[in-house]
Amino acid sequence: MNNLAERDRAVIWHPFTQMQTAPVPISIVRGQGSVLYSADDREYLDMISSWWVNLHGHAHPYIAQRVSEQLQILEHVIFADFTHPTAVELAERLLTILPQNQSKIFYSDNGSTAVEVALKMAFQYWHNLGKPRRKVVAFENAYHGDTFGAMAVGGRSAFTAPFVPFLFDVEYLPVPVAGQEEVVLQRAATLFTDEVAAFIVEPLVQGAGGMTMYEPSILDKLFQLARQNGSLIIADEVMTGFGRTGRLFASDYLQEKPDLISLSKGLTGGTMALGVTTCTQAIYDAFLSDDKFKTLFHGHSFTANPLACTAALASMDLLLMDETQASIQRISQQHSDFANQLAAYSTVETIRQRGTLLAFDLKAGEQRSYFNNIRDTAYNFLLDRNILMRPLGNVLYLIPPYCTTNEQLAYTYEQITKLVQTI
Ligand SMILES: *Cc1c(COP(=O)(O)O)cnc(C)c1O
Repeated sequence: MNNLAERDRAVIWHPFTQMQTAPVPISIVRGQGSVLYSADDREYLDMISSWWVNLHGHAHPYIAQRVSEQLQILEHVIFADFTHPTAVELAERLLTILPQNQSKIFYSDNGSTAVEVALKMAFQYWHNLGKPRRKVVAFENAYHGDTFGAMAVGGRSAFTAPFVPFLFDVEYLPVPVAGQEEVVLQRAATLFTDEVAAFIVEPLVQGAGGMTMYEPSILDKLFQLARQNGSLIIADEVMTGFGRTGRLFASDYLQEKPDLISLSKGLTGGTMALGVTTCTQAIYDAFLSDDKFKTLFHGHSFTANPLACTAALASMDLLLMDETQASIQRISQQHSDFANQLAAYSTVETIRQRGTLLAFDLKAGEQRSYFNNIRDTAYNFLLDRNILMRPLGNVLYLIPPYCTTNEQLAYTYEQITKLVQTI
């Protein structure tokens, strides 16, 4: 059995995949820039940054060099009672680019866990103050990850159904999309009480829930309402962080800054698994005590892995270069020009864009109703044309690496235009 796909099928269980009906997986053997190369010599344009993580293209030589150097210096060390240079440098540098009210960095190793830690910090903050609060407010259709706490604060769906009995209760606010602001504000006025420990949001763009977008001004108002009752605010920037929205963080669009921020995905430029939860001094201070029971008892074997921290430092060097910042603006502009053209098609609805993120809903044409499998139709149509995109139901979106060229974007836009003319 030399065929990689066959060997895979014999031993591997893939994420979010019904293994009985799943198509044969595509074997990728190499990547460069925005292109993935398959075992059968096909090229795929990675227009979703491989599950939204890859900021600077695949196998970036600078990140590769930095990680390989680090590998020969120190690959890992326990992070309780010990520290190491890359973890400290990364924390220092993150704090220079995050909202100024953030003052401490807690490491973990993925986005779900970065959310779990934020929730545990919030609950224990109130516990340590001797004023326990139990409620959490979240947005409908939110996605914060697949571990239990992260699932609990996400919207309930087919994905969470088997686990619902085990998830703690959360109060949901409708997403304040254009036109819904007043309704949401009224609901918020009743939900935010002094029992609410935390309000958790994906700021400005809800990712997995369908790339739903809303304005900073309404989020500022909701944050103000939450604050009036002392609730902590958690910004889950796992997807929106590191330039995706056109600014370094979605929180940079806001006047009211979150108390806690969760980061992962783009953190290492898509190279290694790493998560970070950041918090204000006030939250950190609530855990300082002679009483050992006020400690945050949370940690992972690979906390602050030096290779992952090095990848994050290298990715940050690249991200902050003028050239990359210009690319982010260039892609945003290309997206916005394409969005204007897309508006002409009756099979396209609710076009939305924030920075390098462009999304719209597909609506099947009248003659042919593919609605039930419009997702698969779109996915395969684009894949056949060497473009990797992964629609969320009928929502098609682009979240390309920042090195994607105008030619690559133009080719993608052209194929999307053909798709929306076909369905
Ligand atoms: C992907 C995602 C997560 C979960 O991150 P994982 O690394 O996949 O566990 C959490 N929140 C948001 C907003 C995400 O997009």
